[in-house]
Amino acid sequence: MASEEIYANLGINKNVFDFSEKIIAELKERFEKIDEVAEYNQLKVIRAMQKNRVSETHFESSSGYGYNDSGRDTLEAVYADIFNTEDALVRPNLVCGTHALNVALSGNLRPGDELLSISGKPYDTLEEVIGIRESRGSLKEYGVTYAQVDLKEDGSFDFQKIKESVNGRTKLVAIQRSKGYQTRPTLSVRAIGEAVKFIKDIDKDLIVMVDNCYGEFVDTVEPSDFGADMIVGSLIKNPGGGLAPIGGYIAGTRACIENAAFRLTTPGLGKEVGATLGITKSLFQGLFMAPVVTSCALKGAVFAANIYEKLGFKVVPNGSEPRHDIIQAVEFGRPEGVIEFCKGIQAAAPVDSYVTPEPWEMPGYDADVIMAAGAFVQGSSIELSADGPIKEPYAVYFQGGLTWYHAKFGIMMSLQKLVDAGIVNL
Ligand SMILES: *Cc1c(COP(=O)(O)O)cnc(C)c1O
Repeated sequence: MASEEIYANLGINKNVFDFSEKIIAELKERFEKIDEVAEYNQLKVIRAMQKNRVSETHFESSSGYGYNDSGRDTLEAVYADIFNTEDALVRPNLVCGTHALNVALSGNLRPGDELLSISGKPYDTLEEVIGIRESRGSLKEYGVTYAQVDLKEDGSFDFQKIKESVNGRTKLVAIQRSKGYQTRPTLSVRAIGEAVKFIKDIDKDLIVMVDNCYGEFVDTVEPSDFGADMIVGSLIKNPGGGLAPIGGYIAGTRACIENAAFRLTTPGLGKEVGATLGITKSLFQGLFMAPVVTSCALKGAVFAANIYEKLGFKVVPNGSEPRHDIIQAVEFGRPEGVIEFCKGIQAAAPVDSYVTPEPWEMPGYDADVIMAAGAFVQGSSIELSADGPIKEPYAVYFQGGLTWYHAKFGIMMSLQKLVDAGIVNL
């Protein structure tokens, strides 16, 4: 078989190849379901592009103030249609997901308001945005207070506590869809929808914002389809399709987007300014690719979960449960497991495959961290990438893969490294 041969040339032994192929054969139905979601979302994206009459003129560059950048404005209209919102802000000037979240929050909160998170502790980088960890320029410094309701033991919303926590100052309720790097389950869009309804029943004027990072196009619906006022994410994750070189988005109600735009640029100028410097075509094309790219990353995550579950490791999510984001965690219980796994991901990369990742003391972390990434876009986590802190329970988190075949090869290579190191016996 030709493919067995080329894998052998790339350093994959027959036992790893056979083991992998056997697992994939068992995943046929699962993959068909993932393909169905991708097909639906592909058509959703095309429909939005057709409706907004996307044309070659929209790929032109703007400079300076960026007035009348019709490509930028059309891209934002396309995002709004895909996410079923009144408006959207999709900009290279939103430099990452954290920045987009900061703009959404600080644009819509005023001194004296309270921000309430109902999905527990937010993503690490938001701790400084909010002021949970003291930081200059945080919302806390501007007189915005913060309250938090944790998810229940089983990962569901604690509606009783949410009701008790809403007070006269509560202005914005935040929900994080993805588990990020926590061990709780990721929230389904439908569960988020129920929470949105619950909040709106308490007070319809409360703003609900969803951190949608890693969740886009995993399902056929998004939190904004269920009434979330804003959804926010990064373009070097799912919706950029691997082609966006930078950017973030906020999609939501006209009022929320206007407030966010006044914060991103200035009061008065808002969405009218912001040159795109020639990257608009990549943002359109990446969005066009995003449903399929996301499905490839999902297949990789499901494949890895099943491989490592079969080998007796704890995997989150497990091999058979439904998926709501593209992140996969594998617990190895020993540092060598994390290190060898990351070496495999690195060795399978199209870029920088010859370097060996090593744990290092990263700023902001309380343990050494090892990272594997051989990406075309720096830090892009829709591209195949993995990282793990060298501490209990010695779990590796990985995500991405612009193509299923790359994700597959990366995971096979991780297994090969674990076999070579004697950590796994096939
Ligand atoms: C990645 C991520 C962020 C932050 O995005 P950056 O682009 O890294 O700043 C926020 N929330 C969640 C859940 C994420 O996964």
